[in-house]
Amino acid sequence: MLLDVRDLQVEFHTREGVAKAVNGVSYSVDAGETLAVLGESGSGKSVTAQAIMGILDTPPGHITGGEIIFEGRDLLTLKEDRRRKVRGAEMAMIFQDALSSLNPVLTVGEQLGEMFTVHRGMSRKDAKARAVELMDRVRIPAATARVDQYPHQFSGGMRQRIMIAMAMALEPKLIIADEPTTALDVTVQAQVMELLAELQREYNMGLILITHDLGVVADVADKIAVMYAGRIVETAPVHDIYRAPAHPYTRGLLDSIPRLDQKGQELYAIKGLPPNLLAIPPGCAFHPRCPLAQPVCTTDEPPLYEVDPRRRSACHFWKETLDGAR
Ligand code: SF4
Repeated sequence: MLLDVRDLQVEFHTREGVAKAVNGVSYSVDAGETLAVLGESGSGKSVTAQAIMGILDTPPGHITGGEIIFEGRDLLTLKEDRRRKVRGAEMAMIFQDALSSLNPVLTVGEQLGEMFTVHRGMSRKDAKARAVELMDRVRIPAATARVDQYPHQFSGGMRQRIMIAMAMALEPKLIIADEPTTALDVTVQAQVMELLAELQREYNMGLILITHDLGVVADVADKIAVMYAGRIVETAPVHDIYRAPAHPYTRGLLDSIPRLDQKGQELYAIKGLPPNLLAIPPGCAFHPRCPLAQPVCTTDEPPLYEVDPRRRSACHFWKETLDGAR
């Protein structure tokens, strides 16, 4: 197993109290596999990724428990200098907002080249040649000419390709992409997602795709972990989730995807808002928003029930949910 996150706990210590941002999250990704982590903002999906990458803001964030096993080593026990070497060379992250992640006063060639001068000790000339190769690889037209341009001279989709090129530069074993296409329009979104999937297959990398949109992961993910209020509420192979979700929250996310055959109809939205992490509702955290909630849901927290050997759901009524979806 490439990455195995076990029972991860992350807290944020604020003036108002302690927010449990990640509460017992476990998931794994193998080489060549894509895991999509899904949930609304505040579900803990990005905080989990930051903990894996070792870029969690501490304080206020604190990892209070669990293990992050990457190629057999628990990253949480590594010293910061070892951790830094893992980051970038062995695992890399792609963020949503390329414009603020790229340095506006350096050309893209300088930024891409820096990966090779700093990490591989290459000369500036060789590094620039590698930068052009990478830009070609992520299909940026006229790479030789554009290598000397600045980030603002590229479109949003092209900037996101540059981010992908930077993440890929050192051929890491794992890439975490946090909402990589959210800021792009739908057509460009599909192209960038396709490119990412293609590179992932070619280099046999593990890919964690963080998104709030179930619509974008159907064609690229192998399995899905759905998060709510800092916990995983459903995990399953991607096709099982689309065929029949076993958790009402997943069903709500699926029903919120716009569909061509329902043009003109009002789009479904899960009612209410995600909970304040300082005051997570007792019992099932989703109960104030759940159309299937029963009295037991307000008092007893559902464990992750085994639906089948590859699938789990944290819902007392997963059988009924599954049957209703079929
Ligand atoms: Fe809804 Fe109850 Fe299931 Fe929670 S446990 S998702 S409230 S039915």
